[in-house]
Amino acid sequence: MPDQIIDRLRRFHTRYFPRLRKQFKGLVDQGQHPTVLFIGCCDSRVVPHLLMDSGIGELFVVRNVGSFVPPFDASHGYHGTAAAIEFAVLNLHVREIIVCGHSHCGAIRALYTEPPAEARHMAKWLDLGRDAVLPVTLSEEALRRTEQRSVALQLERLMEYPMVQRRVEAGEIFLRGWHYLIEEGKVLVLNVESGHFESFDADIEAARAKDPLDGVNLLP
Ligand SMILES: [Zn+2]
Repeated sequence: MPDQIIDRLRRFHTRYFPRLRKQFKGLVDQGQHPTVLFIGCCDSRVVPHLLMDSGIGELFVVRNVGSFVPPFDASHGYHGTAAAIEFAVLNLHVREIIVCGHSHCGAIRALYTEPPAEARHMAKWLDLGRDAVLPVTLSEEALRRTEQRSVALQLERLMEYPMVQRRVEAGEIFLRGWHYLIEEGKVLVLNVESGHFESFDADIEAARAKDPLDGVNLLP
């Protein structure tokens, strides 16, 4: 019986790796030096490297259900995400931390429903997003807003990590809140001053709105 997964491994090893061998060797010899910590959702439609046009070794990625940041409190158990944050900040000295939520997030939708009785870890984990829930009838609009509110909530929690707070205040780390719209291939970024999520090229769009002919080819 053909094993499609093994076929994929074979393709990587024979087709792609030879072209990347030198790059991987360099990253092994010199170690990894990513400057960005990307905290994203497990959702299969979120593809950090594609989204950020990043190569091998450029992003330190931690993914979990909902792109949540657990509290800075080791008493609650095994925190893979908290450990990744500490490693990225203390060992890798990343300069940017991105919390990336996304449209149609199953974790955010699950905040409005009862999880299956068997999903004990999920029920507990979802507590990390509960403060983002809106007291409204469930709608796509409410879900998008909840997804965005959750990103802001996770950033607040990230600032409770002393090593993060210290570096943000010293200007050594920059935090970014993103809302990735899967169907539009577009990221809305949190404007911390307004509290709103805006198009990443809002300035360009505003300039275009002032000059509607900008970018229009006037030649026949
Ligand atoms: Zn998600």
